[in-house]
Amino acid sequence: MSGQNEKTCLKVQDLKMYFPVKNGLFSKPRQLKAVDGVSFAIPEGKTMGLVGESGCGKTTVGRTILKLYQPTGGKIIFQGEDLTDLTDTQMLPFRKKMQMIFQDPYTSLDPRMTVESIIAEPIRALKLYGPAECRDRVRELIQMVGLKPDHLNRYPHEFSGGQRQRIGIARALAAEPEFIVCDEPISALDVSIQAQVINILEELQERFGFTYLFISHDLSMVRHISHQVGVMYLGNLIEYAPVDELFDHMLHPYTRSLISAVPVADPIQARESSRIVLQGDVPSPIDPPPGCPFKARCAFAREICGQEKPELMDVGGGHKVACHLYHTNIKPL
Ligand code: SF4
Repeated sequence: MSGQNEKTCLKVQDLKMYFPVKNGLFSKPRQLKAVDGVSFAIPEGKTMGLVGESGCGKTTVGRTILKLYQPTGGKIIFQGEDLTDLTDTQMLPFRKKMQMIFQDPYTSLDPRMTVESIIAEPIRALKLYGPAECRDRVRELIQMVGLKPDHLNRYPHEFSGGQRQRIGIARALAAEPEFIVCDEPISALDVSIQAQVINILEELQERFGFTYLFISHDLSMVRHISHQVGVMYLGNLIEYAPVDELFDHMLHPYTRSLISAVPVADPIQARESSRIVLQGDVPSPIDPPPGCPFKARCAFAREICGQEKPELMDVGGGHKVACHLYHTNIKPL
């Protein structure tokens, strides 16, 4: 999906992350397929939004890309380097370039550390600067996220949720990263504060050219911040397109139902658009049945849907969808 002159920052090919689960001492181990063959690419300086209901595997994708888990299969290519099988020591130069902003600003900051120590921690761990330069860098970082140097001697409990998330962003920037996984960075914040955090992320991207993987279940924010969007369901990427193409011409029945649930401000438009309510719950990712992962909840399921898993295929203009309706002679929606 990269344009001709765009360089790819991150490429994920058929990424799989399975976790073994056991019910009892003598039961056969089963596989929880949290991520089951996900592929996408993010150009440098762009944002890919990754959406889906809780438990669909989007956070596991982010964590696996950062090698917090060792992938079960597939490839992670970062700036042309294959990271998939690198050891912890071999990963060290990449740890600096790939950082994460966590979901919960209340638990992700150590309450016993001052803000200065929290932000300086990655600089010290990666030995990026001497003590004096480290102090200057921490002052620069705190101002970059709209806080003051006076705040550095305080502790996390003295700050609001939005301010804590700013501290979390400053810590992620301390290692001078090029790629940042933003894992639901606004979901624990008040609506009034969410836009401020999004604005900071956008300003930083414009200034430093960061590449983001923005994981969220808030489709309005994803539409606002992303250049391209992937939709996940039960560990699979089921639709993937440039942002306006996805929101204006969604194809997959699951994407249609997700987007139909987004509140619309215009009352006329709201009256005209009807909400698609899905029946049933997301099935268990433990040993999922063959065929399309969405078939148990899909109003358009056909015989083939229970037999073959649909591939994520390009239907034109970089818009990819994994649904037999668009890959066979079955009449599309
Ligand atoms: Fe529905 Fe079949 Fe398409 Fe899956 S492949 S979304 S079950 S129509």
